[in-house]
Amino acid sequence: MSENTQYTLYVSVLYLFMFLFGAAVGSFLNVCIYRLPKEESLIKSNSHCMTCGTPILKRDLIPIVSWCMLRGKCRACGAPISPRYTVVEAMNAVGWLLISLRYGLVYSFETTIHAILCCLVYSALLVVFFMDWDTQLISTPVVIFIGVLAIPEYIFRPFESGLDIVSMVIGLFAASVPLLLIWLISKGRAIGLGDVYLMAAAGLFLGWQRVIAALFIGVILAAIAGIIIKSRGGSSQFAFGPWLSIGILAAMLFGWEICTAYMNFTGLGEIIYGEGHITSLPSDLYAA
Ligand SMILES: [Zn+2]
Repeated sequence: MSENTQYTLYVSVLYLFMFLFGAAVGSFLNVCIYRLPKEESLIKSNSHCMTCGTPILKRDLIPIVSWCMLRGKCRACGAPISPRYTVVEAMNAVGWLLISLRYGLVYSFETTIHAILCCLVYSALLVVFFMDWDTQLISTPVVIFIGVLAIPEYIFRPFESGLDIVSMVIGLFAASVPLLLIWLISKGRAIGLGDVYLMAAAGLFLGWQRVIAALFIGVILAAIAGIIIKSRGGSSQFAFGPWLSIGILAAMLFGWEICTAYMNFTGLGEIIYGEGHITSLPSDLYAA
C-alpha cells in the first residue's frame, strides 16, 4: 500500500469514527431530552417500550440500525416506536461528520480541538432544540455545559481566530442583556430566563460579534415561525429556544462570514473605516 493510500484510509477511518461515535452520543442525547425535564437520572435503569414496558434488548439498542431493522415497531408488542429517537441519532451523527469535515480533524492540533468543541456545542444545541420544543424548558446543566466549553475554546484558539477575552466577556452580555430587558418588560411572558442564560453561554463561546449574528438569525426565524403558527390558529405562546439554537449553530459555523457579508452589504465597513474599505473579518477556517 502506498503512503498516500494509507493516509487516505487513516483519514477516512477517522471521519467514519466521528459519524459512528456521533450516533452513539445521539442515543445519550435522547436520554437527556426525555429525562432532564423530569429531573430523572441520566445513567440509571435501562430503556423500555413506552407502550408495553418490556425492557429493550441490548441488540435492539444499536443507534439508527435497530430502529430500521425493527421497522419502527416494538419487538414485544408491535406498537410503533417514535422515529424521533432515530432522527436525533442521525442528526448528531451527520452533524459531527460535517463539522469534522468543515474544520478538518488532521490539519493541526488547534483545528482538531476546535472541531471537537463545535461538535459538543452542536449536541448541546440539539438537546436545547428538542427539549424546549417539547416542554418550553431550557435545561440549566446544558447551558452551563456550553459556557464551560468556552474555556478550552479560548485556551486552544489559533492566533488568527477572532476570539479574545474582551470579545468573549462582551459576548456574555451582548445578546443576553437585551433578552433580559424583554424578559423584565414582558414580565416573563414573551421569553423565558432560559433563553437569556442560553445566549449568555453562547456569547461567551462565540464572542460578541457572532452572538449578535446568532440573536438576529434566531429572532428572524422565530418571527417567521410565529406568523406561520398564528396563521394556522395556533397559540401565541411558543418556544424561542429552538430558533435561538439554529441561530447559534449558524453563527458558530459561518458567523465571521455572516458578519463580513453584513458589514460589506450595508456599507457599515465603509462608514466606520472610510470609503473603499472592504471588511474582512477573521475566519474559522485556518489551515485548509
Ligand atoms: Zn412494546
